[in-house]
Amino acid sequence: MSTVTAYAATSATDPLSKTTITRRDVGPHDVAFDIHFAGICHSDIHTVRAEWGQVKYPIVPGHEIAGIVTEVGSDVTKYKVGDRVGVGCFVDSCRECESCIAGEEQYCTGIGMVGTYNGVGRDGQPTQGGYSGAIVVDEKYVLDIPDAISLDAAAPLLCAGITTYSPLHHWNAGPGKKVAVIGLGGLGHLAVKIAVAMGAEVTVLSQSLKKMEDGLRLGATDYRATSDRDTFTELQGRFDLILNTVSANLELADYLKLLKRDGTLVELGMPENPMEVPAGALVFGRRSIAGSLIGGIAETQEMLDFCAEHGVAPEIEVINPDYINEAYERVLASDVRYRFVIDISTI
Ligand code: NAP
Ligand code: ZN
Ligand code: ZN
Repeated sequence: MSTVTAYAATSATDPLSKTTITRRDVGPHDVAFDIHFAGICHSDIHTVRAEWGQVKYPIVPGHEIAGIVTEVGSDVTKYKVGDRVGVGCFVDSCRECESCIAGEEQYCTGIGMVGTYNGVGRDGQPTQGGYSGAIVVDEKYVLDIPDAISLDAAAPLLCAGITTYSPLHHWNAGPGKKVAVIGLGGLGHLAVKIAVAMGAEVTVLSQSLKKMEDGLRLGATDYRATSDRDTFTELQGRFDLILNTVSANLELADYLKLLKRDGTLVELGMPENPMEVPAGALVFGRRSIAGSLIGGIAETQEMLDFCAEHGVAPEIEVINPDYINEAYERVLASDVRYRFVIDISTI
């Protein structure tokens, strides 16, 4: 076992604080790597504040992890010391169920996907995430970061990137398709960039016009404030696909009406409380509402390669670990352009 420095939450209300955790010895199939950068996802905040249910404290969040391999197990074939690698939201799954065999490990129906943090590893120990100096992960759950993507920019792709790439790909975003993205935050700004790179026509639906210049620079051709009721009348029946990346409850009926016949609204945000879905907004127009959870390992690699090829990278603000608690407050205030990434070298 090795001991590494980390930032942990000790309760739902206390700020995160510096501590140490242990990492398991490197097994035959394991890759150990020094973490260089870790993104701050809104899911980290939902989790540590117990908005998704009870949490076992202390908990070290972080599931957007990028670093450099320091040791590999005797049977590892995919990676060697010095490789640039990443880990996203999960570090294991049953490997046998239909979802795992299909490469959709995030939907594992065996043991369920084992979260990078707040899960339990095969050794029976709680998993701890990326706000830490190093991590040990089975090579099957480790991603290869293409040379064209810097390590700090790679980190947010491992959750925010794949979470938006997967539904865009699944629902065939591309030329001729009109896509709307609700919320221009960590997920939302990558959704815009990736959808544009796929060839779709993209509209941003944000609470205000404050970030309009950014949205258009990212490639959106239209940008509307949802605080303006005219948005909902003017855009009725406009979109093939809407990705909802908002972390809070919305009046879904208003947004469903923006879909064309047979259009789909995909729920990516996971607010604490349920939202109402009026039947009429679905029935008229044969519209669908769906959800999507991150993406499998193979698709995550495909997304990284796609981003490298198309020059897609997140816009990030790199911070020191002692700024994590302030960064959380700024994420909650939608005051981030557009992802905080922790420089772990200073941990
Ligand atoms: P984020 O950076 O905080 O972005 C969320 C955006 O939602 C904000 O920037 C803001 O955009 C908008 N927003 C926030 N509060 C709002 C409110 N009260 N009303 C309307 N709009 C509001 O968060 P994130 O990291 O992108 O994560 C977004 C959500 O996705 C979280 O719930 C997270 O847990 C979830 N998530 C899901 C998956 C998955 O696999 N499905 C993966 C990762 C994250 P504007 O300022 O532009 O309005
Ligand atoms: Zn996340
Ligand atoms: Zn499985």
